[in-house]
Amino acid sequence: MKKHNFNAGPSILPRIAIENSAKAILDLNGIGLSLLEISHRSKDFQAILDETVALFKELLNIPAGYQVVFLGGGASLQFCMIPYNFLNKKAAYLETGVWAQKAIKEAKFFGEVNVVGSSADKNFSYIPTGYEIPGDADYFHITTNNTIYGSEIRYDMDSPVPLIADMSSDILSRPVDVSKYAMIYGGAQKNLGPAGVTFVIIKEEMLGKVERKIPTMLSYATHTKEPSLYNTPPVFAIYTCLETLRWIKSLGGVKTIEAMNIRKANLLYDAIDSSKIFVGTVAKENRSLMNICFVMKDQYKDKEDGFMEFAKTKGMIGIKGHRSVGGFRASVYNAMPFESVQALVDAMHEFEKMTL
Ligand SMILES: *Cc1c(COP(=O)(O)O)cnc(C)c1O
Repeated sequence: MKKHNFNAGPSILPRIAIENSAKAILDLNGIGLSLLEISHRSKDFQAILDETVALFKELLNIPAGYQVVFLGGGASLQFCMIPYNFLNKKAAYLETGVWAQKAIKEAKFFGEVNVVGSSADKNFSYIPTGYEIPGDADYFHITTNNTIYGSEIRYDMDSPVPLIADMSSDILSRPVDVSKYAMIYGGAQKNLGPAGVTFVIIKEEMLGKVERKIPTMLSYATHTKEPSLYNTPPVFAIYTCLETLRWIKSLGGVKTIEAMNIRKANLLYDAIDSSKIFVGTVAKENRSLMNICFVMKDQYKDKEDGFMEFAKTKGMIGIKGHRSVGGFRASVYNAMPFESVQALVDAMHEFEKMTL
């Protein structure tokens, strides 16, 4: 049976990226060696790294003055590296979910943290508005897509201080005005590649402003001076990112990807909104195009397990909602085909008919 992979992360990747990565493991570009057994300082890997950075810059239209580096440690290590490198006295954070909270926790080790807005009061079902970003903060940190709750900041905001964004789960899902950000980062394993690599887009101007001493591996300056090659980078994971970037380019770039994402998300949100038994959990204006969360209406709550079982028989994988939200979450990242979303919607309709 065809599987429809709605996993939240690690998650679906373009089939072609997986196939080409498998080929590179067996024999990289016909050189007679596996991608897994070449030096990260070889010209073969340097070519891979250069193309990955160049494509990343091209697809996101990254202006001069920014570097793209690939590191280990996940987005979670960035939660600590960001304040280590940039927080002199005070930083501002927007609290929109568990990942934002984890970033806030790390920042508190280094200085004063001003949580300017929070949606914790309603289980992070919306994005706060009307907050003020203090002009004397060293930076303002946001999480553009809240993977667990299914809310998203889908525009590039103005900030009076350097803006830093965790884009782990919506990178490359839409065009971004990178010039509005001082740094964009994320784990690759949701929209870009396999687990094990973290992308960091950093404005060079941000470096060297804090007074504290920073351990070598935790300093961005280390990784921009010898781009992604201070130590051994996650070679294999970077290669698969390259294959995903090539796939995005072959489709016509992030503008095309965005149109595909809107079409997929509309299909599912329309099904939720017109349903008698399902209901969305996020404020409509803040709905994510990447993680679509819904539950059963109160009078049908006892049918949730039944739908989960039914969906399983239709090949649906990974639609169980995060335990802090319950219900269902369909992660419809870039690589998710329209047909899989259609299959989920068909299953919802069929189940609804059986239920009513
Ligand atoms: C998954 C996720 C993280 C955590 O990423 P790791 O690479 O596992 O550290 C952080 N932020 C967001 C928005 C995520 O979706």
